Amino acid sequence: MTSNQAMWMRVSKTWLLGCLTALALVGCGTRTINPVTGQQERSVMSEADEIREGAKAHQEVLKEYGVLKNDRVQNYVNDIGQRLAKISQRSQLKWTFTVLDSPEINAFALPGGYVYITRGIMAYLDSEADLAGVIGHEIGHVTARHGAQRATRQQDAALGVLLGNVLGAVLDAKGGGGIGQQIGQATQAVAAGNIARYGREQELQADGLGAEYLSRVNYDPRNMIDVIRVLKDQERFAAEVARAEGRPAPQGGNSWLASHPSNDQRLESINKIAAQYQAGKNYVDEGRVRYLQVIDGIAFGESPEQGLTRGRNFYHSALNFAMTASSGFRIVNEADQLNFVSPAGDAALIVQLAPPNAGRNHDEIIRNVVKPVSGRSDRYTLNGLQATHFTGAVAAQGGQRAVELTVATGAGGQNFLMIYAAKDAATLQRNRAALRETEGSFRGMSAQDTAAAKPWVLRTTALPRGGFSDLARTAPMTTLPEQQLKLMNGVYSTGAVQPGALVKMVVQ
Ligand SMILES: [Zn+2]
Repeated sequence: MTSNQAMWMRVSKTWLLGCLTALALVGCGTRTINPVTGQQERSVMSEADEIREGAKAHQEVLKEYGVLKNDRVQNYVNDIGQRLAKISQRSQLKWTFTVLDSPEINAFALPGGYVYITRGIMAYLDSEADLAGVIGHEIGHVTARHGAQRATRQQDAALGVLLGNVLGAVLDAKGGGGIGQQIGQATQAVAAGNIARYGREQELQADGLGAEYLSRVNYDPRNMIDVIRVLKDQERFAAEVARAEGRPAPQGGNSWLASHPSNDQRLESINKIAAQYQAGKNYVDEGRVRYLQVIDGIAFGESPEQGLTRGRNFYHSALNFAMTASSGFRIVNEADQLNFVSPAGDAALIVQLAPPNAGRNHDEIIRNVVKPVSGRSDRYTLNGLQATHFTGAVAAQGGQRAVELTVATGAGGQNFLMIYAAKDAATLQRNRAALRETEGSFRGMSAQDTAAAKPWVLRTTALPRGGFSDLARTAPMTTLPEQQLKLMNGVYSTGAVQPGALVKMVVQ
């Protein structure tokens, strides 16, 4: 959860509004020249539209995710990005590169020249050239006007489809989950992620452009292959974690991969492109050591500002609350909500901040947010904090739908909604005691909670003689730490690092 309640809904609304305005203005589109292909294409977005919409959505993305507060890392990523953008087909755009303070493994771009890299993906890249590959791919989406093409295609479809897909486009940008703990049915069931993607051809084109840009700034374009391998291993690792925890393998994996075509196909096509650019080239050093030195000290995994999961406990310093999951429940922390998901994945307690101005008291909040047609409220306290439990019904297509939630005022004064969600009424009944138990753990951060809510930090160090199993002994991760360290260092499925070489590790 982010503490500012800047939800993806807000991003999507702005975005949607922008697109609709653009549509209204230009009717069925004008003809523009695609900067990459040089071909004419019909488009509902002019370059000026792209820049205006991008700038607007950029502000929302910054609010939603938060910017990583680390000038060294920001300047480094910006330098690489500007170098790549300068040799791209749209060097005249004002390009903005931002590292987001998010544990999600993701990268994305907005029309007009806005490119984002999460600190989460940086923890899994192995060199400057890998990073340049990811940035180059995203620059490629912008230079080839993929966002504008999507808006145009969607205008050709029915308006209803447009609404769904533009929303989806932003969900795409928002990304799925991060590693392991973040991936699961909860994200799918709860957020009903109906993620629209760029087309397969567009992704392959972005890969190709990424490889081209790498080559033009003298990095080996085969680093694009490296990136895809690392992200592919990511999926394998998530499946291994799920197996270790007795859960079904997650669907979709990390969003940067999920939104992309089959990796075998990508590898093949990038290999071809790489071969094309390789002849007679002397590539510069891939910048592995430089990269590892720059990222030394950044947070790994969740940060206290977004909430930290430690075992069964969840701590949120910025919002001053802590909760404990019922036995067997999983904690899935997303940007806009926190989910306690039942072992079978069919029920959850969903915790959200009440929207600002939702009401002056719990009754008003329930009236304004839930809009019930009937129901009853019970008042009580949770660890000294005011709470109101509501059970009732809301109007739904052709009838009514049951709704159950608790409004609680946190120690910091904000109002929280704790929504009882389940596949059906019987499932809710089966899980109600556990959901209530979880709700009952809602509390302000105690001194003990604060002490437990320590973030993890990424450090670079020489690999000890005993290898990753040695490093894993001091790592704070509880699930498969050795495999996770190998994954972070690009040797999860194949390859090895010699003792003494610089590697990434995680410390408390
Ligand atoms: Zn892409």
